[in-house]
Amino acid sequence: MVDSSKHTLLIVDDNPVNLQVIVDFLHSEGFRVLTARSGQSALERARYGQPDLILLDVQMPEMDGFETCRRLKSDPQTGAIPVIFMTALSETDYKIKGFEVGAVDYIIKPFQYAEVLARVTTHLRIYELTHNLEQLAERRTAELARSLERERHLAQELERALDKERELGRLKTQILDVVSHEFRTPLSVITQSSSILQNFYPRLTAEKRLRNFKRINEAVFAIDGLLSDVALINVRNNADINLKYASIQFTDLCQKLKSMLVTKVAESDRVRFMVEASDALLATDQDKVERILLQLVSNGLKFSEAPQIVDVELGISDDDHLVIQVSDSGIGIPENEQDKIFDLFYRAKNVGVRRGLGVGLHIVAQLVERLGGTVEAESTIGQGSTFSLRLPCEADI
Ligand code: ADP
Repeated sequence: MVDSSKHTLLIVDDNPVNLQVIVDFLHSEGFRVLTARSGQSALERARYGQPDLILLDVQMPEMDGFETCRRLKSDPQTGAIPVIFMTALSETDYKIKGFEVGAVDYIIKPFQYAEVLARVTTHLRIYELTHNLEQLAERRTAELARSLERERHLAQELERALDKERELGRLKTQILDVVSHEFRTPLSVITQSSSILQNFYPRLTAEKRLRNFKRINEAVFAIDGLLSDVALINVRNNADINLKYASIQFTDLCQKLKSMLVTKVAESDRVRFMVEASDALLATDQDKVERILLQLVSNGLKFSEAPQIVDVELGISDDDHLVIQVSDSGIGIPENEQDKIFDLFYRAKNVGVRRGLGVGLHIVAQLVERLGGTVEAESTIGQGSTFSLRLPCEADI
């Protein structure tokens, strides 16, 4: 049943006596009632009062009921409100016209109160049900749109996962190709030198023995480097790189980096250190810094010729960043390739016979990004390259 106290009706009639009669009746039935005495004021009341139903007299001066109804229906703010026409018995021909302009029903004057009440409550109920249905349909449509969106999202994720999987498969094949090719050279050096040492040891001069041992040593370094690169290529995502921060004095860190280079780099006598005086305490992942520096220095040595020097400058910036510069006077990087050298497997056109996988700088870029720092290359072909590294390392004590 309709709860009349919850409904507002707008009654429109230019005749004050008629108006009063019907208003009194509907009031007594518990409805909230708004009134208007002309078509124009009916349009305004309807817009601001938002009644649930309008009872509209057909014959009114200036704007008649039909025109008022047409305007109510064409206004989006009032178009959905049901309109019931009030017609005199003699005007029943107007019924059709009333329906044509959008009315839902009519009541005939003089009023049969029971009929008025029945028609009003029926239309309120229909309106309420329609309104609820519309809301339900809206909710369902929104739910449907949401679940379609979810499905689209899932399909996209699946597509991305498949892309990743395909990319990984491609990468694996590429790694295997490059690695097996790159392993061959140092392995054959080891085979040759060790067989020379084994078969001709007594006849070799001390200098030749040393040269063969050195070649084996360098080949082992090369293989070691390749293996650690391969281990890092496997990192699919920066977040997979685990960080281990520890506090260390800047000077101690520089000392550690120096000793690391001496043990891990074959031509460490070509490396020159310049360390700024600072008693700063840093918080950083030392292994990662070592790995990055080792890569940049090895590249500097590889892409220059003995006895050219590779300079390593270490300092602390005003904004508490560890700043490392590695400069060489080697072959340089062609200008149009400088933005690609951090890409996986990218090797510039001028590398010649120098060996490499093209993964070292990619790993550097990944590690630096994970550490929240930056790395940049400046290079002039034929004159050399400088790699500048900035890593945030403020100790939180
Ligand atoms: P790789 O050294 O195995 O080729 P990297 O990823 O370390 O691979 O470097 C990518 C490319 O960047 C190198 O192939 C080379 O073209 C260029 N490059 C890196 N460092 C230097 C350097 N110090 N001087 C000149 N070119 C360099």
